[in-house]
This record gives sequence, structure tokens and C-alpha cells, in this order.
Amino acid sequence: MLDTPHPTPAAPTLDQGALATALSGRHFIGGRYVPARSGKSFAVVNPATGIEVARAAEGDAADVDAAVADAARAQKEWARVPARKRGALVHQCAALLKEHQEELARLIALETGKALRTESRVEAGVVADVLEFFGGLGSELKGESVPFAPNVLSVTLREPLGVVGAIIPWNVPMLLMALKIAPALVAGNTVVVKSAEEAPLAVLRICELMNRVLPPGCFNMLSGFGPECGAPLVAHPLVRKVTFTGSVETGKIVAKAAAEKLVPVTLELGGKSPMIVFADCDFAKTVSGALTSMRFTRQGQSCTAASRIYVERPIFDAFVAEMEKAVNAMVMGDPLDEATDIGTIISEGQFEKVQGFIEEGKRTPGAVAHECSAMPTDPALKKGLFLRPVIFTGLDGSSRLVREEIFGPVTVIQPFDDAEAVLAEANDSEYGLAASLWTNNLKVGLDLAHRLEAGLVQINQNLVVQANLSYGGVKSSGLGKEASLEAMLEHFTHKKTIMVNMG
Ligand code: ADP
Repeated sequence: MLDTPHPTPAAPTLDQGALATALSGRHFIGGRYVPARSGKSFAVVNPATGIEVARAAEGDAADVDAAVADAARAQKEWARVPARKRGALVHQCAALLKEHQEELARLIALETGKALRTESRVEAGVVADVLEFFGGLGSELKGESVPFAPNVLSVTLREPLGVVGAIIPWNVPMLLMALKIAPALVAGNTVVVKSAEEAPLAVLRICELMNRVLPPGCFNMLSGFGPECGAPLVAHPLVRKVTFTGSVETGKIVAKAAAEKLVPVTLELGGKSPMIVFADCDFAKTVSGALTSMRFTRQGQSCTAASRIYVERPIFDAFVAEMEKAVNAMVMGDPLDEATDIGTIISEGQFEKVQGFIEEGKRTPGAVAHECSAMPTDPALKKGLFLRPVIFTGLDGSSRLVREEIFGPVTVIQPFDDAEAVLAEANDSEYGLAASLWTNNLKVGLDLAHRLEAGLVQINQNLVVQANLSYGGVKSSGLGKEASLEAMLEHFTHKKTIMVNMG
């Protein structure tokens, strides 16, 4: 049943097709590739061509049991490794991933349809950065001495929680996984990751690479469907912490299951992030910032996408026109082509969902759909899930396109006249993940930044999640923080108090 030696190449490879085949049909448990106990697998499809590029092992409760048992065994030893040494090993993993950056970039482009130059290569680089950051934090796992009484030594320690179950989505799977596994491992936990159905390959390769450095069983990877593989992982009695990124709906199911056994959860869920543009902004920088904010190069498949943009009326028309021009200039095409800015939607289901929103927008009286960029003409891509980005005007806050997360290349631009009114509109949302403000009046900007209901507010920029800065939403956007020292200490350790009565 065990594959020894590994079927995957030891050295970095740029043949993403062959690597995908080699990764086919396997979980990674206890330091080895293993097939699903049921023998079942499912297709991994390149969304740019519609062609199956690999099979993924279809995990179920039996695979979960095996992975969690190995992780639990390994955790006892791993927790005894000094914290700085654990950090140093995670740091070493970062170096290895850097050597494999181009390989990982090509693999993630193949399975997700995200353009190599604008997205996939960037994600593969940031993964190593996140590991480096957390790798340096081992010495921060320290406690306090508490002045309880002169004859009592009272101290606190940071202890790991045990086995962490991590469930990740498909949009930025390598980065979102790194935000979970790196702090969990440095803190002395072991992890079992359940990858997303649509993107199981690059994260599996990362798991194998990191297992060259980490002791076996510390980092395990399962692929499979949510209810059959994710749910038993969350429910497993030996899983003592659950960390999840995905939809609000599934996040609630996960939180309920974790509550049944009273284990802590971190949830990074959806968003409907407002971008507020004042007339005194740096116009050119803000138009280009809107393209970045909307994550058009990721086909808008981002929880922090600026999918509702509010522009102060005096510059509204000019802003829409310039933005349309700028998106038109973006090249949609083969994700692996260096010339491509915009790749594909991840799956047919997601494609239909986004198209449903676009159709609904177009049917709304008064709405104008500005469809941008051009469809690729290469016949090899005729089955690709390419979708032209759409900028809507003429919709208001009652539209589902303004209220719901679309997770596609669709944004709605509305004019505003008054800072208080736009603040109220921005806050009138079930979500509270991120927001951005664009103005040269920092007095106004900071005032609104304080009053916006969001976990991350940026003025005159809209970067994606960054190592060292706490990231996480309020309201339905989630619970807890990621990416920072706080994330490691608060979410992957518990504080034990020890008291010694010295008589
Ligand atoms: P999306 O619709 O964007 O794929 P989901 O929240 O459904 O978002 O999926 C995010 C992750 O959660 C995926 O890895 C998926 O397999 C997993 N998942 C889905 N349903 C469940 C569930 N009931 N329990 C645990 N994990 C689940």
C-alpha cells in the first residue's frame, strides 16, 4: 500500500503535467504517499482546457482516522522539540519551497487557472515568506511569571493544543494553508489538512516537500469532498483545534461540529469589501488600485475583492471610464502564458453561479454592464472557463450584486455625495472582512477607518494578506486572526498556569 520511493521527482520540475500525474490518487499520511483506503479517486480538471490533469484520492472517515492517528502519535514527540528548533525546521521548509517556487507556480496555474505571472508565481513566493515569518517566532512561545504571593511561584506556559484539523479552499490554497500550518507547527501542534476538491495538487506537493524536513506525521494531507472527508476531520475526537477558510455557510457547519466537542475554531469566511473613493484622491493611483483591489487578476475570486466601489460624484463618470479602459487593457488567456493577466474561473459550478449574478444585474432596470477585456481566441482554450470582467453601474444597495459575495470578476460602482451616508452604506453588510479608503485628506480617511466595520482597513492601498499583520474579519466574515504572532499564540496554544508553593 505504501509508495516507496516517492513517485514524484526529488528535484524541482517545470513539467507541471507530469508532476500532476505523479501526484495522482494519493493522500500524504505519516510521511508517505498513500491511496484512499476506499480506492476511490476523483478528477482534477484544468479549467483553461477542460482536460483532466490528475486524479485526487477521495478521502473518507477511514483515511481521516489514519491521518489523525499518525498526527496524534507524532505530536507527542514534536511538542518536545524545543520551540526555536521547530521554528528553524519550518524556516528550512521555506528555503526548500523557494527552490520549488516556479514548479509550484506552474502546478497551481494548471489546476486553478490562475495566471502564472500575475497570480500563481506571486502566491508560491508568499508561501515561503509566511513560513519564514512564523519560523522566526519560536522564541515568542513564552510565558509570564505572575505576582501571586511571596511564597508561591506562579508562572504561565504556552502549550500546543494537539492535532489541528485545517480545511482550506481553492482560491489561494497554498497561501491560506501556509497561514494555518506554519503557526500550528511552530507552536508544537501537528496538522492534518483537508485540501479543496478543485485544487489538491500544489498543496500536496508542498506537503511532500516539507516532509523531507519535518519528522513524519507532523504534516499530513487528505483530499476529498467536504461532507465525506472534511466533516469527519472536524468531528474526530483527537482533533483539538479546527481552522477553516471557506464559505459562511460551511463555516457555520464547521463551527457547530467543533462546538459539539468544545474545541476552538478559527474561521476565515466571506467578504463584500467596500472601496470608498473621494474626489481628492490621487486619481491614476486609485484607478490602478481599483484593479488590484478587485483582484481582477484572480478573476475576483478573493474574499477581500472590492466588489462594491463607492466613488464621490464629481469624479464618478471619469473613474468608471478610466477603470473600464484599464480592465479592457488586461489580457485574458492561457494561465501558463507569460502575457496573460487574467486566467479562468475555477469550476463550472462557480462559472454558472457568477454568470447568474451577471444576468441578474443585466436584467435590473437602470443597470449598465460594462463588459471588459476580450475572450481568448486560441482554439485549445475553447472549453476554458473564461469570463469577461464586468463593471456594473446603475445598481443600488438593494441589488444582490451589492449585498452578496459573488467571488467572480464582477464589481458594482455607485456614486456618493456624503461621507456619513457612504459610511452607513459600507457598514450595511453582513460581512466585515476588509475595506479601503482612497483620499488625500487623512483626517477624513482616519475618521472613517475607525468607524468602518471591518477587520482590515487600508488607506490609499489595498494589499492582500501580509505576514506579521493580523488578518481576519468581524460579523459573518469570521472568528479569530491569522498571519500574525497573535494568530500563533491565541489560536494554536493554550496558556497553562503552574503554581509552586514554596512554604
Ligand atoms: P466553496 O463553496 O468556496 O468551495 P466551501 O466552504 O464549500 O467553499 O469549501 C471550503 C472547504 O470546506 C473545502 O475544502 C470543502 O471541501 C470543505 N467543506 C465543505 N463542506 C464541508 C463540511 N460539511 N465539513 C467540513 N468541510 C467542508
